[in-house]
Amino acid sequence: MKIVKTVDEVRVIVKEWKKEGLTVGLVPTMGFLHAGHKSLIDEARKNNDVVIVSIFVNPTQFGPGEDYESYPRDEERDFKLCEEAGVDAVFTPDPEEFYQNHKTYVTIEDLKDNLCGKTRPIHFRGVLTVLTKLFNIFRPTRAYFGRKDAQQFLIVKKAVKDLNFGIEIVPCPIKREDDGLAISSRNVYLSDEERKAAPVLHRALEKGKAAIKKGMKAEDLIKIIEDEINGQSSLGNSSAVIILRNLSVKVVFRL
Ligand code: AMP
Repeated sequence: MKIVKTVDEVRVIVKEWKKEGLTVGLVPTMGFLHAGHKSLIDEARKNNDVVIVSIFVNPTQFGPGEDYESYPRDEERDFKLCEEAGVDAVFTPDPEEFYQNHKTYVTIEDLKDNLCGKTRPIHFRGVLTVLTKLFNIFRPTRAYFGRKDAQQFLIVKKAVKDLNFGIEIVPCPIKREDDGLAISSRNVYLSDEERKAAPVLHRALEKGKAAIKKGMKAEDLIKIIEDEINGQSSLGNSSAVIILRNLSVKVVFRL
């Protein structure tokens, strides 16, 4: 497995792959890899000659006061997971070099203004900018994204279509812990108490999903979800808001 730090190095490798006519699968990540990332890598491994994982805590998608500095990192463990999963190359650029004198950003209308876009106004601009750079550098055949970040998946799919990247965007199912919590690098931030409480999010969403299937009206749906959360005293209103946001993404997804 090659570990590559600069764009110039990547270009040489990619040129070789293209010359040989190999298909290339890209899995963009921010590292601190877990079973969720691994499932994307496995999917890419199945359908491409070459698999690349980018590991990059992307500064442009973090707003002021967010967790850019404290975001969990463990490069050695990440490299080991990639190697064992049969990855061909890992790209871990240096942020300063990658964004040297950077002035160009990619943004999307409409989809960015609700859900996570409301609370993190520059987030999706950063995501689309880094992905545009990665897509241009790697020219992948396919790129893999988790449905855990449902809004991100929709935005990327739309941007790729609008800007004619000619890359297949492949959605992958959410990997969960045994108690239903979606696996996430940021779960390490949870206290013991929060970790115990967190699966209520999934439970409430599942209840909502079952209710949608039965044709329940929106007002009643919200009540079902709120009741599930309120039954768990250690979670407050802010968690309810997260659930409702997530639920609307699921609904958007279906449409
Ligand atoms: P991140 O490193 O958190 O930016 O995630 C990189 C990619 O892995 C994104 O496409 C995520 O949606 C995906 N991903 C992260 N966690 C999971 C999970 N639990 N299940 C499926 N995909 C995931």
